Amino acid sequence: MNGLRIGQGYDIHRLATGRRLLLGGVEIAAPDNIGLLGHSDGDVLLHAVTDAVLGALALGDIGQWFPDTDAEFAGADSRELLRRVLADPRLEGWRLVNLDSTVIAQRPRLAPMIPAIRESIAALFGVPVERISVKAKTNEGLDAIGNGEAIAAQAVVLLERLKVDG
Ligand code: MG
Repeated sequence: MNGLRIGQGYDIHRLATGRRLLLGGVEIAAPDNIGLLGHSDGDVLLHAVTDAVLGALALGDIGQWFPDTDAEFAGADSRELLRRVLADPRLEGWRLVNLDSTVIAQRPRLAPMIPAIRESIAALFGVPVERISVKAKTNEGLDAIGNGEAIAAQAVVLLERLKVDG
């Protein structure tokens, strides 16, 4: 039987000065050198995406796979973390049908970067960019995100199991 699995992911990181701002594997130029704090590179969108993939197959979460107490993952490239998940034998035969995501950020303005972010995520999954949706919104000035202290991301993925011959 061909299988379909849905997965959901959420993440939030604090903003701080003197950090790179990476979203979906794309470096974003931000005023005042603000970027995302984290044990890894802080790519909140890729973390949500990775958790969505793990969730689809009930394989735990990104914190279990790549503990922030492990020095190996200090400053880690989040693209590499996602690649490691996708290369896991338990993911073999599963392909991304589509991915939808939302980045919630009061600053900086992300709309101009969305095409590049979609391309970056599509390349990581090896699928056409039409399968990747990235939406950006503010938090209407409310709470820590609206105050510009953090950026959050949500992602949903649908995976399908490819039929294996024989
Ligand atoms: Mg994270």
